[in-house]
Parts: sequence; structure tokens; C-alpha cells
Amino acid sequence: MAINVTRPFVPAIEKYTELLEGIFSRQLLTNNGPLVTQLEAQLKEWLEVDRVSYVANGTIALQMAMRALELKGDVITTPFSFVATTSSIVWEGCRPVMADIDPHTLNIDPEQIRRAITRDTTGILATHVYGNPCDVDAIEEIANEYGLKVIYDAAHAFGTTVNGRSIFSYGDIAATSFHATKLFHTVEGGAVFARDPIVHDLLIAMRNFGIVGDQITCVGINGKNSEFHAAMGIANLASIDEILASRKALSERYDERLEGTGLRRPLIHPDCQYNHAYYPVIFDSEATLLRVRDALQREEVFPRRYFYPSLSTLDYVDQQYTPVANDIACRVLALPLYFGLPYEDLDRIARIVARECMPRAVSIAKILRPQPAIVDVPFMSTPSANGVDPTVTGTGLQSA
Ligand SMILES: *Cc1c(COP(=O)(O)O)cnc(C)c1O
Repeated sequence: MAINVTRPFVPAIEKYTELLEGIFSRQLLTNNGPLVTQLEAQLKEWLEVDRVSYVANGTIALQMAMRALELKGDVITTPFSFVATTSSIVWEGCRPVMADIDPHTLNIDPEQIRRAITRDTTGILATHVYGNPCDVDAIEEIANEYGLKVIYDAAHAFGTTVNGRSIFSYGDIAATSFHATKLFHTVEGGAVFARDPIVHDLLIAMRNFGIVGDQITCVGINGKNSEFHAAMGIANLASIDEILASRKALSERYDERLEGTGLRRPLIHPDCQYNHAYYPVIFDSEATLLRVRDALQREEVFPRRYFYPSLSTLDYVDQQYTPVANDIACRVLALPLYFGLPYEDLDRIARIVARECMPRAVSIAKILRPQPAIVDVPFMSTPSANGVDPTVTGTGLQSA
């Protein structure tokens, strides 16, 4: 059977049908019904956040966030994200200004944000790439200094905490996605988390056409989600600890199995509890990536080039110079990672990756005299001691 980069978690069907029976008996299908309210309450408790508004999807969450904070003109953002991050800025009539990423964390580089600020800048839209927190403290400092609003695209970040707090509590608004491909999902869905209670109230009005009670209080949209989607969320949330634990175990097994290949991995924020939302690996070159991908595809394994291409290359974005993101986007591949991925399959995937990305001579030498290929660079890569960045120089394949 084919193995894809991800496979949605599904709860025991009885758990879902039990909730469906309630929906059928109430015949209240949408418009902020009891299951939406219940899901919001449970999310608040599990995430330990003060406010949450459940919406139709992650993209509308981003768009509502920009509206609620009245962003205009230029919005500084990352070229290394899913296309919805950039397209929602353009959709809202703003201009995305790309700030390049840090080559180690793959998140937007605060220094590049600083350099991109002009008098037209009103906000920053940054993505916690693969669930790994941005440098939230540095970004907050810059935003305060220049009076900018901060929105986080936290679509990957469910369950991650930083400095002991939910990642969703950072920024003026954090927007997340509960799409079926995400770690926690409600089939389709998303949420906005606002720091300011007034902004939260505005978001609640906005998702319901601007209607509050019998008044129309602002320009709104239909950002609501249904009882059926909320039911899936409630059923899935019951398994969230198990989902997180299994992803961690699978990721650690990949780490072990790929040790010695010299493959680079994003540097995870030092003060966070990471959710293991994805398992990306960075190759020394696009040629190696394509060779590995083709070898995996021959075995019915379908990793994903994620994120690819760099969003700086979109034809509806002004040309911007982001060499790090453009380079990484060509060399990064997300390997299959999901609840229920059998260890045998993971081992097989890791074997193919290791085989294809190591030069023949090294593989043979390893068979004859097993020893790690890496001598001085730890697998969970940190900048090398001599200050040479293997990402930038393209010598990421660290072989003995
Ligand atoms: C999935 C995703 C989105 C969009 O979320 P939807 O719920 O599919 O609209 C936006 N940004 C990032 C980084 C994503 O991964």
C-alpha cells in the first residue's frame, strides 16, 4: 500500500457517531451550536489559552486576523511557508514583503524583518515553520519598537509550547489550521487566538457576518464552522496526547535510523516543547533530493516537497531577494510521519533515504567497517563550530 507524507488521524467511529446522534436529535447543525462551544472550551483548557474562536479553515483565520488588526500597505512575511500565508496577504489587498529565513531554524530571520521595514509597513505575518517556534521574543521587540502588529501563521504548531506557554498565545493574533492534514484536525477548520479581548470580540463578530445579537457591528464574512466539524475535533482531541507521543517516537526513530547520513534537520527553538508536526530533511543539493524522492516513489512512498517553491518566486509577488529560502526550498523534503505509521515502514524509508544520499564509496566503507559517517557535526544540526554554514555553502552532506 502506498505511503503518503501524511495520513489523517481518525477517531474510533463509535466516538464520532455518538456525537452525531446528538446533532441529529437536536437538529442544530451549525451557527455556533453546542459542539462548537464545547470544542472551544476544551481547546482553551487543553492549550491553556484565554481565548479561542473556531472558524471554517486556516486561510479564513489568517484573513480575519489581518482585517481585525486593520493591516494595510506592506506586510512583512516569510517566503518559506505554505502558499496561503502569502496569498491571504494579497487577498486582503496588502503587499507581501519577503524577509529571508534563518538557515538553521528555517523561520523568518528577525534581522531581515528589521531591514525590510519601511514607512508603509503595518504588520508582520510569520510562520512557525513545521511547528518550530519563531524567535517570538525578538519579533515582539521589533514590533514594539516600530508599532507593528504581529500575526503568526501557527497552522503547524498545535501543541507546541514556548517558554512554558502555548505558542498560540504569542503575537497579536495567532491563526491556526485544523485541516485534515494537520496534527490535530476537524476535517476542515481553523482557529484564531487574539491577545486583546476587544480584538477577540471583533473576530467573533467577523466570523458571523459582523452580526452581534440583532445588530450588524462591522464588515463580516462567513467564517463559521459546523457541528459536524466540531464533533470530529472533540473526538480527535480525546486522543491528542497519544498522537503527540507517537509522532515524537517516530521522529526519534528516524533520527536514529538516519544518523551518519549527514542530513541536516531544522534547529528547534531551545525553549520549546516541540510537537513533531513534520519530519523534514535537508539534502546537500536538489539533485540528491530528486534522486531520493524518485527512489522512494519507486517503492510507493510519497514524501512531499514542503515547502516548495519559495514564495518569493510567485508571479503575484514583487521580485525579492531571499537566497536562503530559495535555496532551502529546493533541497528540503518532508518524510512520511503520522500516527500509525508502522516502524517497519519507517525503517524501510530511512534505509532508502540513507542509501540514496550517501556516496557509494562511503556506503561500501560503512559495510566493511561500520562507523558513523559524521565525525564532528551532530545529526540534529547546529551551526558548525568553525562558523561555516553547511546550509549556505551546500556541503551539507557531511561524510567522513
Ligand atoms: C495548512 C496551512 C494553511 C492553510 O490552512 P487551511 O485550513 O488549509 O486553510 C496556512 N498556512 C500554513 C503554514 C499551512 O500549513
